[in-house]
Amino acid sequence: MQNFPGVGVSPGRVIGTVRQMPKPISEPPAGEQLAPDTTAEEATAALKAASQAVHDELKARAAHASGDGKAVLEATALMAKDTMLIKGAAKLVARGTSAERAIWESGSSVSEMLHNLGGYMAERATDVLDVRARIVAELRGVAAPGIPASENPFVLVADDLAPADTATLDPNKVLALVTSGGGPQSHTAIIARSLGLPAVVAAVGVDHIADGTEVYVDGAAGSVTSEPDGSLREAAEGWAATASLLAEFTGTGATADGHQVPLLANVGGGKDAVAAAKLGAQGVGLFRTEFCFLERDTEPSVEEQAAAYKSVFDAFPGKKVVLRTLDAGADKPLPFLTDSTEPNPALGVRGYRTDFTTPGVLDRQLEAIALAANASEADVWVMAPMISTAEEAARFASMCADAGLQTPGVMVEVPSAALTAEAILREVGFASLGTNDLTQYAMAADRQLGPLANLNTPWQPAVLRLVGLTVEGSRAEGNSKPVGVCGEAAADPALAVVLTGLGVNTLSMTARSLAAVAAVLKTVTLQEAQELAKLALSAPSASEARDRVREKLPVLAELGL
Ligand code: PEP
Ligand code: MG
Repeated sequence: MQNFPGVGVSPGRVIGTVRQMPKPISEPPAGEQLAPDTTAEEATAALKAASQAVHDELKARAAHASGDGKAVLEATALMAKDTMLIKGAAKLVARGTSAERAIWESGSSVSEMLHNLGGYMAERATDVLDVRARIVAELRGVAAPGIPASENPFVLVADDLAPADTATLDPNKVLALVTSGGGPQSHTAIIARSLGLPAVVAAVGVDHIADGTEVYVDGAAGSVTSEPDGSLREAAEGWAATASLLAEFTGTGATADGHQVPLLANVGGGKDAVAAAKLGAQGVGLFRTEFCFLERDTEPSVEEQAAAYKSVFDAFPGKKVVLRTLDAGADKPLPFLTDSTEPNPALGVRGYRTDFTTPGVLDRQLEAIALAANASEADVWVMAPMISTAEEAARFASMCADAGLQTPGVMVEVPSAALTAEAILREVGFASLGTNDLTQYAMAADRQLGPLANLNTPWQPAVLRLVGLTVEGSRAEGNSKPVGVCGEAAADPALAVVLTGLGVNTLSMTARSLAAVAAVLKTVTLQEAQELAKLALSAPSASEARDRVREKLPVLAELGL
């Protein structure tokens, strides 16, 4: 047995065999020529065989997929044999370019051409780049990029996962996620929790575990163990039995003495919203609208946006749905809004700030939201991400009013917003604490970096203090406004108790965490939650805060959380 300690970000104990996520395919050097012992005919034949192999592999995967995934795989399979792509490459090979470099350059030209055509064609541009990388991988005899295909379920090990990887991640095939990079607020963590998969991030050394090695993953304790013994096997079996108890949330979120804490869901689109409603969410506390358009090169039309938003609103008739305007930039780039050359994207033009450089997009989004809200029965609230000043909050509120939207709010995820919450909340109707970014900005620690995972936790007393200050600001005399939490902190059952004790009104999380949070919350009274909040705030470190609070919540151990 060998242990790889990391940071647990999504509970669960499983055993499975490792599949390493292949490294991205590097660009073949510009000007690379055919090897001296290879003729152009041989290279062209190899190129065609590689394109056929990629086509066949994608087609076979499509046969086992369903829904959107199937359609994407079928379209990509066809692209692998695209005449223009292959002929373009064959021409370059005939002039002496190596097969790898030729397909790379031909892929660039076809992708650029599709991009310039706009509309549906432009969306296929990234498929060509994916196919090109697959053909190069085939020519080099290395694994294709992206999440590996496998007949049997496996433990996926990667450096980190990008939001776009979610599209090809089949939760029926992946038993657990383990990354050597990433922090507790990274997208790997968010993806894992939303799929209900056990996950450990920042586990140093896991990138050297060979494919096929059996490992035990404990997503609550944050450990990965290769070649597990009998006791770990028992632990995994025990979890399988408890997990079913935590599968469903029915009713309302409340403490033992009946203090109501509505438990809401974080969603990225209509499908998520339908699933969240089925899992009992009392509404939506964060609709990440940028997730609807991650692959888009061009701004979606008002009508297309309205349809996407309405699909979420329709899943919650009569219930609260908090929609966040596009949070493009940093870890969630949108090609039509983001400048990919910024030196410090997390400190750059992201979220609400994109209105400074690309005016009009936010106005059109608000117009689309109003259209969808008017056509649905949901109680729609709208908030802006990355608000730093009361001035920005006032301007956003006035833009919402111009669009006919009644309940404007802001995300508090920049420390300056927490520190000036009172002034900000005089301008808008509510605030939602984005503890993922609030932590990264308070601690000056990139949320995507594994080595900074210990700094990057919302258990940091400094972050909890900013949460407390925001709540204080929201209760100013004559101006009481609701404050929720929609960062990953809300999905940690122990931290959810602390946040409740700090006075937060609602908790929003991935729907899979609702049952666990509800089960723990109902074991404490409001006063006990307040005492636990004090305990956490006075701890000298994040780990002490977590340990001290967890020790007082025996239900966590009973439920394996
Ligand atoms: C946050 O920052 O806590 C948040 C909820 O937003 P995101 O994770 O989408 O940046
Ligand atoms: Mg954020």
